[in-house]
Amino acid sequence: MPLPLRLASRLLLSALLLGAASLQAAPMDSAAAQAELAAIHKLSERSPTEALERLASLQAAAGGNAPYALRQELLRTEVWLNEDAGRLEQAYAAERKALALALAHKDRATAARARLGEVRRMLDQNRPDDAQASLDAILAEAPADAPAMLKVTLDTTQGDISNAKAHYDKALGAYLRALRLLDGLPDSADHRSLLRGRIAQIYINNDHPEKAVEATGLGLADPGVPAPAVAQLQYTRGIALIRLERNEEGIAAFEQALRGALAAGLVGMEASVRGNIADYYLRRHDYPRAEQEARKALEASNRVKDQNVIVMAKANLGFALMGQGRLKEGAPYIDAVAAQLREAGASADLEAVLDEKGRMLEQAGQYRQALATVREQQALQQSSARAARDRAIATMQEEFDASQRTRQILLLKRENHLKDAELGSRRTAQLATSFAAVLTVLAGAVVYVLYRRAARSNARLQQVNTQLEYHSMRDSLTGLHNRRSFLEKMRARAELGKQERRSQAAGGVDCFVLMDIDHFKSINDRWGHGVGDAVLVEVARRLGAAVRDSDMVLRWGGEEFMIYAPGADQEHVAALVRRVLDTIGSAPVEAETCRVAVTVSAGVVWLPLPGADEELDWQRAIRLADWALYQGKAQGRNQARILTRLHAPAGEVLAKLEGAKDAAPAGLVEVERIDGPARAAS
Ligand code: GH3
Ligand code: MG
Ligand code: MG
Repeated sequence: MPLPLRLASRLLLSALLLGAASLQAAPMDSAAAQAELAAIHKLSERSPTEALERLASLQAAAGGNAPYALRQELLRTEVWLNEDAGRLEQAYAAERKALALALAHKDRATAARARLGEVRRMLDQNRPDDAQASLDAILAEAPADAPAMLKVTLDTTQGDISNAKAHYDKALGAYLRALRLLDGLPDSADHRSLLRGRIAQIYINNDHPEKAVEATGLGLADPGVPAPAVAQLQYTRGIALIRLERNEEGIAAFEQALRGALAAGLVGMEASVRGNIADYYLRRHDYPRAEQEARKALEASNRVKDQNVIVMAKANLGFALMGQGRLKEGAPYIDAVAAQLREAGASADLEAVLDEKGRMLEQAGQYRQALATVREQQALQQSSARAARDRAIATMQEEFDASQRTRQILLLKRENHLKDAELGSRRTAQLATSFAAVLTVLAGAVVYVLYRRAARSNARLQQVNTQLEYHSMRDSLTGLHNRRSFLEKMRARAELGKQERRSQAAGGVDCFVLMDIDHFKSINDRWGHGVGDAVLVEVARRLGAAVRDSDMVLRWGGEEFMIYAPGADQEHVAALVRRVLDTIGSAPVEAETCRVAVTVSAGVVWLPLPGADEELDWQRAIRLADWALYQGKAQGRNQARILTRLHAPAGEVLAKLEGAKDAAPAGLVEVERIDGPARAAS
């Protein structure tokens, strides 16, 4: 289940408040109001509800004639206090008032910030696509000279949306961008810790709990982090530690988070933490304790009316009861959860719930019911296998169209992918048919046998599905992204490109580094294909270690790799390329039977490229990189060529370069040469 995102908004808004330019213009005759507001902030750390009451009095005293900046500040406080108190509807309403007020004063920056309230509402309602559309509209209208803190908030929100859509690379990129923007800003410790928490969540969602532990550690070490943010970091850290099976540390972190949440009256967070504690006891089969925590979680989540947490708490409670053999009490909770997930189309979560339910029923000896559950799960899996196959075919179609140059290779690949996908779904169908046939023949007394068989074939189905999913985006030898994954990235880049770039303050470049292992054929010939494969795996690993988390490393073809580094700093490209040549070439690869010296040649290009026109899309950029790579091969290998400028339209440049076999016609392009390290001994 994805991690909830709620608590952060409070920090987001209070941080914004510190950075908002309009405040500096606030007249000093509102000093008394400011002092009272500060007292309210302080009080909010203990009790958001009491703080809200005092805020209401202050608002009444200040009246409608209060200075604009003060009124906005009061509304902003009203928003996050309500969020802390779990009163989301009231928070949205205050945000709408802030929007109307900002519009009346033609304050575009504050209006943009207030519109984000609507985006958060959509996220709360699990409507990430709508949220994205709204955010895009806000970005399109945001003033170009927006205050830095607004840009941080926009990037943070983009990260939240991408996270909700499970686009983790993109979410990570957005959060890291926000973090970089924060670097120059004063008083930003709270927002920085919030972003570290978010980044840790991405790592967890993306199956890198060890990195999440690291990220939360950094956040907790940062001085000046307010108590609610500490609690949030501890909570995220707890989840990561439990994933790593460092259970005692994990539970200790949860308990600290819980204490923090209770002390600050953060009900939503209390519910989430308790839900996770219950989940932990469930997995340890400590059902009575799981029941105890789940009941408290359900109570807290009902108070904040957070549907996601309510569903989680109900599932935990249902399983905790069933685990104690109290089927009649537990099953209704589970059925309610299943109905809700079915309605929401959350098939992965539904599958997991049905899987667990089947196991619990089996444990209780209720084989007939267990069978019915497993059959529903199976039907779900079948439809996802079909969807995977459709997706595979659609992507192949685009892959086919994408580049004429690699047409032959792609055709071959296409055929193979198709075979893979068809094989997967055919196997799925076979399993299902044989299962159905068995069902009609047998009855009653042998339900148990049937159940076991179904459960087994379910496990196999799951395997087939996972494999299908994996193969569609990953290279099976190295585990790197494959071309299909890259194409999807390029499609997203094209879709979002313009707005995204507008929100990038520093405006980095998107860098493509194409690499080909030197004399790879002779490695194969001398040591055998097994060693060749081991070299490919190690090269992949070294490349992964040499780049940022937000960069993408992919296997472009046999012994060709590519790094796609979006939002890179133009000044740092040469250093990146040097690092790549060094990481590959400095030390030999240790294979089981031998040490193999390996080097690569590389061609590098970035977008937007100086001197290039609109014609230079990513496809042409890669053809240019390919040409540059070839130059390095022709002139001795173990070196890179970076294209730094074009002197003619991209189409013309390509025609001339690809026509002129070896040296480039003079004055057509500017190229920087980077040499690799001294060759390691084999
Ligand atoms: P150059 O420096 O010019 O790139 O020379 P090269 O030998 O690397 O060039 P060439 O492209 O002729 O050779 C690539 C070889 O890579 C041929 C192919 O058999 C081998 N190869 C491609 N994919 C794999 C693989 O998955 N495993 C192994 N072991 N070899 C592979
Ligand atoms: Mg090659
Ligand atoms: Mg090669």
